[in-house]
Amino acid sequence: MKTLLVHIRGLVQGIGFRPFVYKSATRFGIKGYVKNLSDCVEICAQGTDIDLASFIEQIKRNPPPLARIDSVTVQEIDVAESKEFLIKESADLSNSVTDVSPDIAVCELCLDDLKGQPHRIDYPFVNCTFCGPRFSIISGVPYDRPKTTMAPFRMCSQCAEEYADPSDRRFHAQPVACNSCGPVYTLHLPSGNEITGINEIVDATVSMLQNGSIVAIKGIGGFHLACNPFLKEPLEKLRTGKRRDGKPFALMFRDVEALKEYAYINEEEEKLISSPVSPIVLLKQHLELLPEVNSGLGTIGVMLPYMPLHYMLFEKLSFPALVMTSGNISEEPVVIDDSEAIEKFSGIADAVLCYNRDIYNRVDDSVTAVYSGNPVTFRRSRGLVPSPVSLSFDVDGIAAVGAELKNCFAVGKGNKVLLSQHIGDLKNAETFSFFRESFERFTKMFRVEPRLFACDRHPDYLSSVFARNSGLPIEEVQHHHAHIASCMAEHNIDREVIGVSFDGTGLGDDGAVWGGEFLICDLQNSKRFTHFRYVNMPGGDRASEEPWRMAAAYLYDLSGKSFAEEFKPFFSRVEERMLEAVVFALEKKIRCVPTSSAGRLFDAVSALTGLCTVNSFEAEAAMRLEACAAKDERLETYRWDFDGTIDLRPSIRMICEDVLSGVPVPVISGRFHKTLFDVIREICLKIRTETGLDSVVLSGGCFQNRCIFEGAVKELKTAGFTVYTHSLIPCNDGGIALGQTAVAAGRRRK
Ligand code: ZN
Ligand code: ZN
Ligand code: FE
Repeated sequence: MKTLLVHIRGLVQGIGFRPFVYKSATRFGIKGYVKNLSDCVEICAQGTDIDLASFIEQIKRNPPPLARIDSVTVQEIDVAESKEFLIKESADLSNSVTDVSPDIAVCELCLDDLKGQPHRIDYPFVNCTFCGPRFSIISGVPYDRPKTTMAPFRMCSQCAEEYADPSDRRFHAQPVACNSCGPVYTLHLPSGNEITGINEIVDATVSMLQNGSIVAIKGIGGFHLACNPFLKEPLEKLRTGKRRDGKPFALMFRDVEALKEYAYINEEEEKLISSPVSPIVLLKQHLELLPEVNSGLGTIGVMLPYMPLHYMLFEKLSFPALVMTSGNISEEPVVIDDSEAIEKFSGIADAVLCYNRDIYNRVDDSVTAVYSGNPVTFRRSRGLVPSPVSLSFDVDGIAAVGAELKNCFAVGKGNKVLLSQHIGDLKNAETFSFFRESFERFTKMFRVEPRLFACDRHPDYLSSVFARNSGLPIEEVQHHHAHIASCMAEHNIDREVIGVSFDGTGLGDDGAVWGGEFLICDLQNSKRFTHFRYVNMPGGDRASEEPWRMAAAYLYDLSGKSFAEEFKPFFSRVEERMLEAVVFALEKKIRCVPTSSAGRLFDAVSALTGLCTVNSFEAEAAMRLEACAAKDERLETYRWDFDGTIDLRPSIRMICEDVLSGVPVPVISGRFHKTLFDVIREICLKIRTETGLDSVVLSGGCFQNRCIFEGAVKELKTAGFTVYTHSLIPCNDGGIALGQTAVAAGRRRK
C-alpha cells in the first residue's frame, strides 16, 4: 500500500472532474480524497502500485469531455490509511489561478431531462456538470455555489441529494436547480402585467414573435432582442430602435437541418456551430433572406439554441429561425440587468422576458468562422472566456489594456494570459465603465496584482489613459507590432519573424496612421521593412466612415488637384460642395493625416467601383468588395511598383480604366484582391532574400476578409513560407491585449 499526492492543472474545475475522479477511484479500489485547490485539483490516492498506476492512467487518458489537462504531478507521501474515497470541500488556500470554465451550451442529457425527469419537466434552467452557465455567474474562485449568482437559491432536498451523490450527473454541479427550487422566468408586458409559469410564458412569447412583435430575452451573458426574420416590419423597427443602420443581425436556427436551407455549411463549420461553445458562425448564404436581415451581404451570422428556453421556443414556433441580436442600443454594452432591460427596451420590445438570477459577468455571443479549414474567432466572449493562453515565459503581473475599438484587456498570471471578454468601443461612456468594472473584477477574481501596464502607443486611447492613470510603470507597444505579437503568442513563437499587418488604423512610430505594414519583429522589437505608400487621409475619422473620401485621396495622389475633373464620373453621387472641400483640404493639407492603411485602401477601391461610397456600418465598403470578388484563377493582377514603399498608383489607374470601360465589378474586385496576394508574396520573398526569415505571421483586422486570408495563406505556402494565422484570438483589435502582454514580457525579460 502506497500513498500518492497528485496535482492536476488545466481546465479541471466546474466540468465534472471531481465526480469523474471519484468514480475512477471506486473502480480501482483507491482510497483517499479529491478536492479543488485554487490552482489545481488535488488527489490523495492510496492503493497498490498496480491500482494506482491504472487509476492515474485512467485520469490522464479519459478525462470528462470538457476537461483539458495541462499537467499532472505525482509525489509519494506518508499518511495514515483511509477507509474510503472522499470528495472534500474546496480549500481556498493558494494564491494561484484556477481555470474558470467558460459557459457551456445545454447538453443532450439535460434536454432529455426536460421531457422525462419529474422534477425538471420543462424546467428552463436545467444543467449538470457537463453543461450550463459558468463564467457568467461566477464572482470568485474556487468555483463553488456561494461564489456564484446561484447563491441566493436554496437547493431543495432532491437537488441537494443529487448534488451530494458522486454517482449522479449533477454531483457538485454548482448551478443545480429544479422546478421547486431554482430561478424562474417572468414575462413583462408593456401594460405592467406579468406572465408567470414557463408554459404560459413560452406560448405567449411564441405567439408574439409569430405576430411580428419584438421580445427582449435574457440569455446567458446578456439580453437578446428577438424577432421574426421573415417579416419586414419588426426588422425595420429593430434597426431604428437599436440605431443600427445596416449592420447584419445574427440569426438563431432551430437546428442544423433548418439552417441548411438558408446557408451553406461544411463539416468543419457544423462541428464549430454545434460545439459546447455554441458561437455565432459566419456562413455563406443560400436561400434569399430579407435585405433588412443582412443588408444583402451574401453571408449570415448564425447560431444554434444553447439554453433550454431557446429549444422550448423553437418547439412551438412555426418558422425555423429567429433574429437574436444583442440587446443593446447603438454601441452600448449588452444589457444584463432586468429592470434596466424593462426600461431601456420599452420603445423597442413589445415584451421583456427576464429571469431572477443575476448575470455577474457580461458575455456577448462569440463570433467565429472557418477559414482555410480552421476555426477563426472575431469576437471572443461567451463559451471562450476566460480560458487562458499559456505561454512559455513569465507574464506575471502584466496588465495589458488593449486598443480602443473592439477592446479586450488581459492580465498575466504566472505564464498564463487571461484575456477579458469582448468589451467594445471605449469611446462610449457606458462601455468604458464596463471596461473599468471588468478590469477590477478580473484582477480580483484571478488575484492578479498588476505591476506593469502595457498599452498602445496612441496617447489618446482611453485604455492608454487608464494605464497612465494607474501610476504604475508603462510599456508602450506599437499597434501593429502588438497585432503580430498577438498571433506569435497564440502559437508560442518567440523568435524573429516576418509580420504582415493589414489593418484599419493604428498610430505609427512616425505619427502617421499605419495599417499596411510589413514588419520584421520578435517579442521585443519591431522594424518596419516596408509599407503601402502614404496617401493623405482627408477629414480624419470621417474618411473611414465615407469611403469616397479615400477614393478622392488615392486619385489626388495619382493626378494632383485636377483629379476631380479628370475622374468626374466617380463622384457623381457626392455633393459638389463636399468634393470641393475635400480637394481643398488635400491641396492645402488641412486636417489630412498620411496613412498606409490597408483598410482605407479597400475603402477607396470599393468607392471607385461604386459599391459603397458611404458606410452604413463599420467596414461595409470592404465587406461589399469582398462579397462580390470573382474567384477565377485566370484573373490577372493589376500592376504595382516598389521603390522602397509599395506604390499602388498603377493599380488605381487600371481600376479606374476598368470601371470606365464597363468591366464587371466582381472582376475588378477579384483582380484587386489578387493584386494584394501578389504584393504579400513578393514583399515576403524580398524579406526572405535579405534576412533568411521564412516564417510569416498574418494579423490585423483586414484578415477578417476571407478572400485575403485564404489567398495570402495559399500564396505564401506555395512560395515555401511557414504561415501563422490566428484561430482562438481575434486578428482584429480584440487580440491586441495579448500582443501587448507578450511584448511587455519580452522586454521585461531582456
Ligand atoms: Zn447537462
Ligand atoms: Zn431542486
Ligand atoms: Fe488594429
